[in-house]
Amino acid sequence: SPAITDQDPDVWKVIRAEQERQESTLELIASENHTSAAVMAAMGTVLTNKYAEGYPGARYYGGCKFHDQIEDLARDRAKELFGCKFVNVQPHSGANANVAAFMALMSPGDTVLSLPISSGGHLSHGLKVNFSGHFYNVVDYRLDPKTETIDYDNVREQAIKHKPKVIICGYSAYPRTIDFAKFREIADEVGAYLMADIAHIAGLVAAGVHPSPFPHAHVATTTTHKTLRGPRGGMVMTNDEDLAKKIDRRVFPGSQGGPLMHVIAAKAVAFGEALKPGFKDYAKQVIANADALAEALTEAGYRLVSGGTDNHLLLVDLQPRSKDLTGADAEKWLEAAGIITNKNGIPNDPRPPKVTSGLRLGTPAVTTRGLKREHMQQIAGWIDRVLVSNGDEQITNEVRGEIVDLCKQFAMPH
Ligand code: PLP
Repeated sequence: SPAITDQDPDVWKVIRAEQERQESTLELIASENHTSAAVMAAMGTVLTNKYAEGYPGARYYGGCKFHDQIEDLARDRAKELFGCKFVNVQPHSGANANVAAFMALMSPGDTVLSLPISSGGHLSHGLKVNFSGHFYNVVDYRLDPKTETIDYDNVREQAIKHKPKVIICGYSAYPRTIDFAKFREIADEVGAYLMADIAHIAGLVAAGVHPSPFPHAHVATTTTHKTLRGPRGGMVMTNDEDLAKKIDRRVFPGSQGGPLMHVIAAKAVAFGEALKPGFKDYAKQVIANADALAEALTEAGYRLVSGGTDNHLLLVDLQPRSKDLTGADAEKWLEAAGIITNKNGIPNDPRPPKVTSGLRLGTPAVTTRGLKREHMQQIAGWIDRVLVSNGDEQITNEVRGEIVDLCKQFAMPH
């Protein structure tokens, strides 16, 4: 907009450079996406000017008539999308949604059973340096060492042993389908709440291509910016009216002040997009693309944690292809070629988290750009060429050129 270009060329120059970076590279970070122009437009509006503490019909500030309408639209669309009765759309992020959910379900010192970050969980599920590990008693369940999938027997054993108040399912680096019904069975057996954090798979759930946490989970939390393709933000959902009241109180005034109403408007726009039939096709293609990428990388000699993927992400064990290859080097070399990824520990990774032996890849963003299965084979080929060359400059430049050409054919949403 001329307002930024004229007034603040310093900031504008950097924003333009970032736009150019996104347009000319392939985004394979599993937790990222490209929103529509409509979602972005909603965020750059006068809604950012307003305080609207409270909830529709019960605000602590005057002048909230239109903010009530916006928040109602976001809530109603989210309820329809996820088939649940109560939604709080105010959390500023996924981690904030989890803070509110923890506070609604537990008191400090209570026990929560979750998958540790080293096995694919999220830091807000109990990492020591996070609020969750600081204020709550965290116990772990594990992956089956053979299949590298959730060990439901171990979840049950740990639940019986520790009698947690809350069991958490839903992850940051888990490529397989989650059996919410099985988790609920275990939760019921020990009288625990089941909390499903569907941050990564929310778009797949909304489109009906991954099972829904409802009616199994007592509470579900999510981000809105991953597969769901909305603005950065969070959300808490439930079917239980008493829990819904507690969650509302724990979001505001429990852990947040004024809601970001411009972001809530953008959430409403994104939910509207996800309710359209085209979104189901998108989500199906996300999974088809992940499957094609998995197949091509396996053929090239990489090992996939759990042997493959059911969803939008792959966890690649680099060792079988090249013993000395680390996640950190792979991330750096691929970025130079125009493929953006993140290093990620694999189960029982001997290397520390800043080095790792693995790479996490996801297809939500490249699928938004319109890439299909055949392009995933091409991408796997580029990944392998760069990695086996140890980031050789000439090969990197060749691949970079080919990627720029492909990116020109498949524009980001404008
Ligand atoms: N929960 C899960 C499972 C996640 O993967 C993430 C983010 O990666 C979050 C919560 C936190 O979301 P945010 O980064 O918006 O706080």
